[in-house]
Amino acid sequence: MSIAVYPGSFDPVTAGHLDIIERSAKVFNKLVIAVLVNSAKTPLFTTEEKVDMIRETTKHLNNVEVTSFSGLLVDFAREQNANVSVRGLRAVTDFEYELQIAQINSKLNKQLDTMFFTTSIEYAYVSSTIVKEIASYGGDVSDMVPPYVEECLKKKFGK
Ligand code: ADP
Repeated sequence: MSIAVYPGSFDPVTAGHLDIIERSAKVFNKLVIAVLVNSAKTPLFTTEEKVDMIRETTKHLNNVEVTSFSGLLVDFAREQNANVSVRGLRAVTDFEYELQIAQINSKLNKQLDTMFFTTSIEYAYVSSTIVKEIASYGGDVSDMVPPYVEECLKKKFGK
C-alpha cells in the first residue's frame, strides 16, 4: 500500500493546495495531509482551525486524512508508514528551497522519497501569504480559496 504525506503550513489551505491534494490522492492509496506546527512562525489561523478547514474542503476524498505534527517530517512519515512526501512546485523560485528540503529529508530517512506535483497554471500565482494580504483589505479571494475558507477569512478579519 502506498502512503504519502503532504506537509505544509496551510495558513490557510488554498485552491492551489487543494489541486495538489486532489491530484495526488489519485496516485497514492492513502494521503495524509499534515499541518506543521512551527513555533518560529506566527500563523493567522490556529492549528485546529487549519486542520478543520482542510477536513471540510477534502471531505469528498475518502482516502485523505488530515492531522498535525511537530518535529521532523521524517519522523512523522515513519510513524505514518509513509514512504513519499508530496510537495507542490509553482515556479523556479520554489525549486531551490524544495530541492534542499528533499535532499535533507532523504539523508535523514532513506525510505522517504519526495515527489513534486507541478501546479495547475491557474493557481501558479496563489499563495497563502497573498490570500491573507488581499483578504485583510476585504478583497475578493473567491477564485483562490474554497468557499468555506473564504468564510473563515471573512470572520477572521471581521469583514
Ligand atoms: P510551507 O510553509 O511548507 O511552504 P505551504 O502551506 O505554503 O507550506 O505550502 C505547502 C506546499 O504546497 C509546498 O510544497 C508549496 O510549494 C505547495 N504550494 C503552495 N501553494 C501552491 C499552489 N498555488 N500550487 C501548487 N502548490 C502549492
